[in-house]
Parts: sequence; structure tokens; C-alpha cells
Amino acid sequence: MRPAMFLDRDGTVNVDTGFVRRAADVALIPGAARAIARLNAAQVPVVIVTNQSGLGRGILSTAEYVAVRDRVAELLREHANAHVDATYECPHDPRLGECACRKPGTALFARAAHDLDLALDRSWYVGDRWRDIAPALELGGEGILVPGAGTPDDDLRTAHERARVVDTLGEVVDAVLASLAVAR
Ligand SMILES: [Mg+2]
Ligand SMILES: [Zn+2]
Repeated sequence: MRPAMFLDRDGTVNVDTGFVRRAADVALIPGAARAIARLNAAQVPVVIVTNQSGLGRGILSTAEYVAVRDRVAELLREHANAHVDATYECPHDPRLGECACRKPGTALFARAAHDLDLALDRSWYVGDRWRDIAPALELGGEGILVPGAGTPDDDLRTAHERARVVDTLGEVVDAVLASLAVAR
């Protein structure tokens, strides 16, 4: 079993424009592709776990979601020959009740661990919201907030108190690769 890098998508890999709906509007966060490419080179599985309630709300069609997902993959390839190993999404509308898969729920992480043989208790949970990194408290591993334009103050405060805050995804990867080098 291997540790993985679990990444939020919108606001962490690509710019969060609200409900990201149009593939043509997708733009990567500067440095994200290069950071992911370094994980690829180190053979650290990179898994996107994303809340996409726009699907359940009827704001986003499945075809639009797939087109955006594929556009993110295409841009990662173009920018740095980077790739994500798998993407998991929660499509549910939280107004209709709780599901197990919407972050901070852990069902999608458990599914990824099963599919890809990952060690959740040694993995990293990275995103621009507290709910992206809170799963680390339940699953083990380390939660790291990378603040962005959409990060609420409360999330930043909570992450400082209970997890870790790092300025960029590139610096997260610096730390992860350094810790792997020590472990070897
Ligand atoms: Mg986000
Ligand atoms: Zn769900």
C-alpha cells in the first residue's frame, strides 16, 4: 500500500469560478501542473476528490462535468506533462440531506484506497477549504491547507490550529518529497 496525494480540484488545481461549468473557461492555478508532475516523477499517486454539488443541484450536467474534468487533464498534460491517477466526485446536493461522499465525508477516499491500494493513514489531504483537509483527522495522514481567494477566514484559522497551512502546492510537494526521502 502506498501513500497518495489527495487534491481538491476547484481552487486547488484550477481556478475556482464558482460552479466550474465551461471547459473553455478552465485555467490552472500557476505552479499546480509542475507540482503534480513532480509527484508523478516520484511515483506518488495523485487523486482528485471533488465536491460537485452543481450536478445534484441541476446547475451542471454530467456532460459539462466530464468536459471540465477532461480539460483539467489536458491542461496538466500541456503545461508540465502531468497527470492525475484518478478523480472521484460527489454529485450530491447537500440541501437534500447528508451523503457519505461529500467532503468532509470520507467515502470517496475509502473508495480510492480500495481501487488503488492506498495507505490512507500515510496520505496527504490538500485543498483550499477546511472540509478538504479535515478527512485527515479521521483517516490519519496529514491535512494541509493551501489558501486561495475562496478560502474562508474560519477555514484558515481552523487549519492553523488543527492542521497545517502552506502557501502553494509547490511547497506542499517540497515537504512531501522531503519526508519521503527521509523515510527511504
Ligand atoms: Mg476548492
Ligand atoms: Zn455525495
